[in-house]
Parts: sequence; C-alpha cells; structure tokens
Amino acid sequence: MTASGLTTAGTRHREVVTELTRRYGTPLYVYDLAVVRAAVQDLLAALPAGVEVYYSAKANPHPVLIAAVAGLGLRVEISSRGELEAAARAGVPAQRCLYTGPAKTREEMAHGVARGVRLFSVESPVDRQRLTCAAGEPVGYLVRLNGRTAPGPAGLRMTGVPTQFGVSAETLAPGSALFRPAGNARPVGVHLFSASNVPDGSALLGELTTNLAVAVHTCARMAFQPELVDLGGGFGAPFATPGPRPAYPYLRQGLSTALDEALPGWRLGEPRVAVESGRYLVAGAGTLLTQVMDRKAPDGREYLVCDAGVNALGGMSGLGRLLPAAQPEHQPVDSAAAVLTGPLCTPLDVLSRAARVGDVAVGDVLAIPNVGGYGLTASLVAFLGRPLPVEVVLDGDEVVAVRQLTISETAW
Ligand SMILES: *Cc1c(COP(=O)(O)O)cnc(C)c1O
Repeated sequence: MTASGLTTAGTRHREVVTELTRRYGTPLYVYDLAVVRAAVQDLLAALPAGVEVYYSAKANPHPVLIAAVAGLGLRVEISSRGELEAAARAGVPAQRCLYTGPAKTREEMAHGVARGVRLFSVESPVDRQRLTCAAGEPVGYLVRLNGRTAPGPAGLRMTGVPTQFGVSAETLAPGSALFRPAGNARPVGVHLFSASNVPDGSALLGELTTNLAVAVHTCARMAFQPELVDLGGGFGAPFATPGPRPAYPYLRQGLSTALDEALPGWRLGEPRVAVESGRYLVAGAGTLLTQVMDRKAPDGREYLVCDAGVNALGGMSGLGRLLPAAQPEHQPVDSAAAVLTGPLCTPLDVLSRAARVGDVAVGDVLAIPNVGGYGLTASLVAFLGRPLPVEVVLDGDEVVAVRQLTISETAW
C-alpha cells in the first residue's frame, strides 16, 4: 500500500501518512494543524487589522481544529448543541461564541445561555421571541439581515435572492420591534452572510461592501446604533481537488476604505466589525486517504471503486446538490478520465465522474486533498452502517489527536 501524500507533502510527511494508513486503515481523514494556522495567518493578513473573525464550526467541528483557530485569537460561530459542545471541548469560552441558525429551538437557546453564550443571531421576530423566552440572563443579539446584493460568481448565494435566512432589510418597517430590547434580550448589532466560496477578490470585496451598505442603511433607518456589525464572509477554498486557497491581496485596503467611509468609529471599536469563515481556514488542512478496491472498464469506461464514497465525503453531492468532482493528488493531468465510486450499494455513490488518474492499481491509496472543511461531518455518515473514517490530526509530522466518531443510538 502506498499513499500518494498530502498537499504540503515532503517525502518525510508522505512517510508519516503512509504509516498512518497502515495503522488506522482507510478511509482515513488526516488534518494538519500547521496548515490551519497558516490559513488563519493568511486570513488575518488579508483583512484590515481590528476586524474580528469568527470561525464557522460547521466547516469542521473537530475540537482540536477549533482549539487551533481559537488559539490564534479567533472567535467561534456555532449553530447547534453539538458545535457548542465541540467549542467547549476546545476550551473556547462560551462568551466568545456567536450562536446562529435558522431554526434554533427555545430549548437549545436556553441551553446555550445556561452554558454562557451571550450573543445570538436572530432570524425573524419569531426567532427573537423564542430567544426572549429562553434567555434567563441578559443576552445580546444580532439581527440577521437579508439584503439585495450585486450578482457575482459565488458558490452558494444566501441573500439577494429569496432564501430562508434572515429578515428582509428592504421590508423592515422603521421602528421595527426587532431593534428594541425585549425581556433579557437586547439588540447589539446586525449580521449578514450573503455568499459562500467566492474565489475572486474583487467579487468578495463587492459582497462585503454591499453587506456593509445594507447594514449601515438599515441601522440608520431603524435609528439603531450597532455595537457589532458582522459582514459575513465568502472566503473560498478548493474542495476535494488540488490547489491553493485563494489570495485576496486587495481586500485589506478596499475594506478599510469602505469601513472608514461607512463606519468612521470602527477603528476604535465603535462599532466592532466582524467576518466569518469556515472552509478557507480548514479545507487545505484536510486530506482523505482512500484505498482502491477494484478497477474495471465495462464498455471501455474506467471505474475505480474506492473504500470511501459519499458516506465519507461530500454527501450532498450524492444528493445532487453539488457536482461531484473529487480529484486525487499527484496524478498526471493528461491521463484518461475515470469514474471514482465508493462502497455504497447505490449508483449515486460517486466521488467524481471524470477524475484524472494515472497508473493506479488495486490496493493503492489515493489522496483527495482540500477536504478539511465540509468533509466527514458533511457526508452521509450513517449510510449503510459503515464504520466512520478515523480522523488523525497532525502538527507537522507529529500525531496530536486520533479519534473515530461513532453513530450512537438513544433509546426513548
Ligand atoms: C456556513 C456559514 C459560514 C461559513 O461558510 P464558509 O463558506 O465555510 O466560510 C459562515 N456564516 C454563516 C452564517 C454560515 O451559515
């Protein structure tokens, strides 16, 4: 069995990974903390100094990864009890978490407040009402706004077109009760999240400045002084194909200028300004190692049957949400296209319809790069009752954590 290596692979690193597949089998997720830390530094360098960053635990809620980003000063955006638990296990104080999500129950918000969360994003008057009932202690909340945004090449657009997220900024009546305190819940700012995975710097700057304009305009209309303006994100990363994370060289200057104009007090923290990022920070740190179990070419079409399928990676692609296009690393780009399939008994179990794979034999291990975000925990993990891949966290060549999630049953 030979491993094809990691994105950052030196020979030594490759040996480490080969040894890991020997010890933990395949499919295997390997995350490299050194890459996570480099991504955090790159993101901080791409942003104006003073802008706060929330790590979106949704991208990868592994507590060791959360601890790595939090250790560099980031806050954490969570949207479930599980993510709150993961942040707590990572040693992140609940006061540094922002609790978001379109369908938060009263019970989960009460649980969050009891655990120390003091900042929520509310999506509607009814959501704010549930927070008011849930908050046994004073909490702040951001009003999530859905405003019109310029069309751009974003992967997934969350506002500007009708979605289930937020309140429509245009239709908010001046004096809306959402911007007045109720019970223990007090509005402290606004939150927008308009796009995901925007690889182009000027398109991303456009998203953030449009969100800024919607935020400022809405606050003015509501005669509301925000303490925190969360502009959302859109920081991109390749998924399951080789390649570096995007560079955003002009963002820092462009966003600084826009903030100076729109929110003159922002450099003094009046208001504080925040962004959110998931995939950019963790995608490049993760590699999925999968063994080739069979190779065949019915009707001349090449199939590689692997031990990882949509149960281990990108389950949403199996559901037709995204185009499945995994591309193993270190394969000749000019080789013939093969279908990469997984172990599940359904023709939907496809990781790629046209991966470039060279001289790969049964028993070889393919390395699917850039799956540190939206990998294992965004897959169909319970499908066919297959065991979940082990996750190994490396810091350089040193193994710092190994775990295997299991699906457990709660009897009622
Ligand atoms: C998913 C999500 C994010 C993170 O998106 P990435 O594309 O991973 O950066 C940030 N904020 C909100 C509100 C989200 O739902």
